Amino acid sequence: VLTSATSDSNENFQVAIRVRPPLLRELEGYQPFQNTALVDTRQTILTVSENLHAIQNGGSAADAGLAYATYRFTFDRVYSPDSDQAEVYEHSAKRTVLSTLQGYNAAIIAYGQTGTGKTYTMEGAQHGPERGIIPRAVEDVFAYIENDTAPGSKYLVRASYLQIYNEVISDLLKPERQNLTIKEDRKRGVFVDGLSEWVVRSPQEVYGLIERGAMQRATGTTKLNELSSRSHAVFIIIVEKSTVPSEDPNANGEEMEQFRGVAPGMGRMGGGPQGGEATHCVKVGKLNLVDLAGSERVHITGATGKRLEESKKINQSLSALGNVIAALTDARGARAHIPYRDSKLTRILEDSLGGNCKTTMMATVSPALEAFPETVSTLKFAHRAK
Ligand code: ADP
Ligand code: MG
Repeated sequence: VLTSATSDSNENFQVAIRVRPPLLRELEGYQPFQNTALVDTRQTILTVSENLHAIQNGGSAADAGLAYATYRFTFDRVYSPDSDQAEVYEHSAKRTVLSTLQGYNAAIIAYGQTGTGKTYTMEGAQHGPERGIIPRAVEDVFAYIENDTAPGSKYLVRASYLQIYNEVISDLLKPERQNLTIKEDRKRGVFVDGLSEWVVRSPQEVYGLIERGAMQRATGTTKLNELSSRSHAVFIIIVEKSTVPSEDPNANGEEMEQFRGVAPGMGRMGGGPQGGEATHCVKVGKLNLVDLAGSERVHITGATGKRLEESKKINQSLSALGNVIAALTDARGARAHIPYRDSKLTRILEDSLGGNCKTTMMATVSPALEAFPETVSTLKFAHRAK
């Protein structure tokens, strides 16, 4: 029996699963089945229910002579391999993105084993139908700003891009800035000290930054795929809206400059719309777009030295994230202790998780039998978050 999403599901915290299509490599790997059909059902171990809320794991794997258990999970949404980028954005990202325009903080977090589609989901292509969540979010933000013709509305959009590798934070847009520390003050909330912020005026400018950051991620090491699967990448968009009463004689073209001048320290980034001074109403919203390190458990016993340290750090920060989310879900508004300080990642996301913040966790899984143990582990992690 497949169950649909529970009615007490928290509106602000959504968990979605995305099953990616089988890759050519995976299809080719199953020689014995090739003459029967291109995709043999025995390779597909995830069953996505019709109402798109539940997922059944197991099933035909048993037919393949493998003693895999059958699991059933319920999530807010499950995207089958046929789901496209537009559908994923529409149902699992759009509301979260738009909330930041109202002055709320938010986060969209991609979790999953390496090779299951985290980067495809978050970034995808920059143009065309395969645009991922980040380009669509950026377009939505600028479209909203363009459509806000209310007199006196001014916007400032800034972007930052950081990486956490081995619990060390570095600035992907100013590579010389390494080993950054996290600070907090009443004006800015939680912030990474020294992280560069770039004023952006169009989606194209944002894509330019993403490209630069991605290049930095690549050249920072000899093995690109290795590092990108072992580090967390956080793309941050901060939207500030200031409203100046239209009868205000100062509400002219120069206002933007003035606004920009005071912008960095303005408005606490915490959970909700903030009032400004008498003439200025400033709302600040922060959107964190997170492409996590691969969740696969590296076998600690086989790993040594640097590799062992890396694995421990990744395992630690992902479980810290799981613990924070579980604590927030259990607390349901009660003042419980939330262990944000257990990792750099949870510390950075501290003012963007819980409270009035909208959060989407997108857990990505492979449809392939070979990935079964990791898939179960990802589904368990995602399920614990609800
Ligand atoms: P990850 O970032 O989790 O390591 P990637 O996003 O790099 O994984 O995806 C691995 C491969 O699978 C890439 O070639 C990507 O284009 C492809 N892929 C992932 N998800 C999908 C999808 N939903 N549709 C089509 N191709 C996908
Ligand atoms: Mg990736």
